[in-house]
Amino acid sequence: MSLTAALAYARHGIPVLPVHAPDPRGGCSCDRGVTCPRPGKHPHLRHGLTEASTDPRLIELWWSRWPGANVGLRTGVTMDVADVDSAEGWHGLCHLLGGEFPAGPRVRTGGGGWHFWFRPLGHGNRVRLLPGLDWRGVGGYVVAPPSRHASGADYRWVLRPGRSLPEGPTALRALIAGPPPPPSHRPIAHPSRYARAALIAEADRVARAPAGTRNDTLNRAAFSLGRLVGAGLLDQADTMRELEDAARFAGLGRAEIRATLRSGLTAGRRAPFDPELNRDVA
Ligand SMILES: [Zn+2]
Repeated sequence: MSLTAALAYARHGIPVLPVHAPDPRGGCSCDRGVTCPRPGKHPHLRHGLTEASTDPRLIELWWSRWPGANVGLRTGVTMDVADVDSAEGWHGLCHLLGGEFPAGPRVRTGGGGWHFWFRPLGHGNRVRLLPGLDWRGVGGYVVAPPSRHASGADYRWVLRPGRSLPEGPTALRALIAGPPPPPSHRPIAHPSRYARAALIAEADRVARAPAGTRNDTLNRAAFSLGRLVGAGLLDQADTMRELEDAARFAGLGRAEIRATLRSGLTAGRRAPFDPELNRDVA
């Protein structure tokens, strides 16, 4: 059954790799058996992921050798996958997607999590993109239906792949791309583009700030964006709205957010950013 599925994935251009299966008596089909730290999740092949293939003859050869193998699919080629393993990850992804999951392919993993398929973004894996959420991109793979999980349950399709995959929304792409590189002390060629990227990156930093650092992170973000507001590169109301949403997502209360935003932005506006100098104020 897993051979048929593997060949079907390959026909759609997704490189396949045979993955060890959990042993019904416990543990893994690999040599380590019950001591395997990742039962049913790691490749059979010596060079792992790099050997993944869409060649049906090779796939048939692998499955004749390991008929019960789980099916691994290389990500970053025709799809990227948001790998959700907890309710927290589910809520985080839902927030990034603007409150609604796309009608794209969706897998219930045997471990109780979810895989959401997206068009590839061109980035590599991001472990713990948010709590409970990993991103599988270039150089990654996922275990796919009808594989078996160590829990005994199967990976199964909730929504099967159709003609096209949903695109990752801007907030998700910004989070995966990470913050912009540190200032180079060279004049900035496109100040308004730079300011927009800084706003997205600072809002992400605030949204992801762990408890205990949230107010401080918000204060720093408000100050550095306040400098861009002071230079006329960002709109004050837009900036406040973005940071407020991010801070509420992080769990800060409304009154605390307002007070911190106001003082940070005011202080920042007094030290306007100069794109020509691109240097921190003393
Ligand atoms: Zn193993």
